[in-house]
Amino acid sequence: MASPGLLPPRSRQNQIFSGLLLIFLILSSVYYMTAPDRNDDEKLTMAREVPLSAITRDYEAKKLTEIIVRGSNVYAKLLSGSYVQSYKELGDSIGTLGWNDPRNATAVRVDDIELKNFFKAHLGDLLFFILMIALGMWVFRSIARSQSTALSFGKSRARVADGRQGKTTFKDVAGCDEAKNDLKEIVDFLKSPKKYTTIGAKIPRGALLVGAPGTGKTLLARAVAGEAGVPFFSISGSEFVEMFVGVGASRVRDLFLKAKRNAPCIIFIDEIDAVGRQRGGAGFGGGHDEREQTLNQILTEMDGFDKDTNVIVMAATNRPDVLDVALLRPGRFDRRVFIDKPDLVARKQILEVHIRNKKMGKGIDLEVIAKQTVGLAGADLENIMNEAAIFAAKNGMKTITQGDIVEAVEKVTLGSEKRSRKINEKEKKITAYHEVGHAIVGHLCEESDPLHKISIISRGFALGVTWFLPKEDQYTTTKQKFLDEICGLLGGRAAEEIVFGEITTGASNDIERASAIARSMAMRYGMDADELGIVSYGERQGSAALGVDLGMSRNYSEDAAKKIDAFVQRTIAGQYVRAKGFLAVQRSKMEEIVEKLLVVETMSLDDFLEIFEEAKKVEKKE
Ligand code: ADP
Ligand code: MG
Ligand code: ZN
Repeated sequence: MASPGLLPPRSRQNQIFSGLLLIFLILSSVYYMTAPDRNDDEKLTMAREVPLSAITRDYEAKKLTEIIVRGSNVYAKLLSGSYVQSYKELGDSIGTLGWNDPRNATAVRVDDIELKNFFKAHLGDLLFFILMIALGMWVFRSIARSQSTALSFGKSRARVADGRQGKTTFKDVAGCDEAKNDLKEIVDFLKSPKKYTTIGAKIPRGALLVGAPGTGKTLLARAVAGEAGVPFFSISGSEFVEMFVGVGASRVRDLFLKAKRNAPCIIFIDEIDAVGRQRGGAGFGGGHDEREQTLNQILTEMDGFDKDTNVIVMAATNRPDVLDVALLRPGRFDRRVFIDKPDLVARKQILEVHIRNKKMGKGIDLEVIAKQTVGLAGADLENIMNEAAIFAAKNGMKTITQGDIVEAVEKVTLGSEKRSRKINEKEKKITAYHEVGHAIVGHLCEESDPLHKISIISRGFALGVTWFLPKEDQYTTTKQKFLDEICGLLGGRAAEEIVFGEITTGASNDIERASAIARSMAMRYGMDADELGIVSYGERQGSAALGVDLGMSRNYSEDAAKKIDAFVQRTIAGQYVRAKGFLAVQRSKMEEIVEKLLVVETMSLDDFLEIFEEAKKVEKKE
């Protein structure tokens, strides 16, 4: 869309052209006015000097063809064609000199020497002046162009996607069946509003899509427009927030106006939390005039719809907790549609959507990939398939193999491998023991997730990785599982201590995670019932369900804080002893696995079990 505040490029060119033409005209008229000088100048300067009375005498005798008066200079052209020159008093006019005899045909010309001299003297200045103006105009233009927003202030910059062409439909959205069901209603409202209005039902004004980033909110909104076959006006909340107060509000007005003209249609406000925060100074950023005005305008516009204006406002957010309550009132965003992170089945379906336009090799098993991607959102899965395609292309392959996808999963979840990183032998050995420590302890803890892979190829910041995969999506966790997780996390440090008798910094991340688990056991889940009771400590800011955690605010006593710390220390100390116990018993197997790992660098669960189970059998025989 051309931004309306600026001239379209065509007429801007015309303007520059006519400007140049004007400058040309001025210059040529200046040239013309000074032109006689140029022609006569030479002859005049060579003119013979005579007394003024001689000229008057010749005039009266009609011996002259022309008299030219320039200031106090008088030039006279004789019949012979040559000039003579004299001087007069400045006060003397043609009349007082007697040169205005109507019967005398001699031409008497008074050159306006002032004007001529002015132009002569100031031609340079004039040119300079014109140039400066032109330059100024040019600078102004280019500034205006670069800040076209400043000129198109109040216009909404909503992008319109016509639902009738190149459309996204529910078929492009895998999983989220509940969300799709909720939204089908809206599609129906848009398609056949009569059905609802004749029975007296009010058409809902707004639907709020709530879900973690990348779960497909934007995609779903588009799909609704596509299904209903209506235009889709999308704008991001942050686009309303500009440096000038009042701009946001006028953009809202403009957007709704455009939408009403195009009804039935959908207005989609992405990331509405950018404008829809609680008003009145609470929360982050304090009172923000601009945001408040924008929000008020949105509310006013939504209230101002006629009963049968068929415009539905959809909005998306991942922070419903910060939204102003006024937005959630009936008649506004009264429908709320929650979009969960995809479960196993949905992940497989999403992967299927994203292999549609890719060349896949034979024997692809997406179920396996879906299993390995617990907790990832649709956008991550799309990213994985894209990375897989990049891997395949990089390796000069024509199709994508299962191996490419597996590699992509690891890259997306763990960071890419850094094979080139130089690690000395000692460090490599310590890493191997550390990772095998995690693996053995994790494997021996009943409740721990199954082991998937061990690697001592460094990735991201980690020197090695031991990867456990959840069996299925879990929504609740037992206390024992928490303890086993802590134990597994401490397995790395335990191995280092047992084998080398010294400890490294390599376990800092493990310790952090173990501590966090222990702390939330005490504070959130009431798992230290004896000391702390079944009480929640600390007020959470942000929404746990959406994975947005803004930390805790402290609402408990010093005494409780001590008890929480004591629980964390006790729990971790206990699990550390347990981990060391496992490893002390399995010392010989640990050595054997480490030896293999140092050679092959990565081991799958099967490789691990081959040695571990074998060793077990041997031990049993002895
Ligand atoms: P959000 O707006 O929730 O942050 P998007 O709608 O922008 O997420 O999703 C980003 C991308 O992820 C989409 O363009 C789409 O390709 C992919 N995606 C997300 N969820 C799904 C899904 N359920 N089915 C298919 N693709 C999905
Ligand atoms: Mg989005
Ligand atoms: Zn570790």
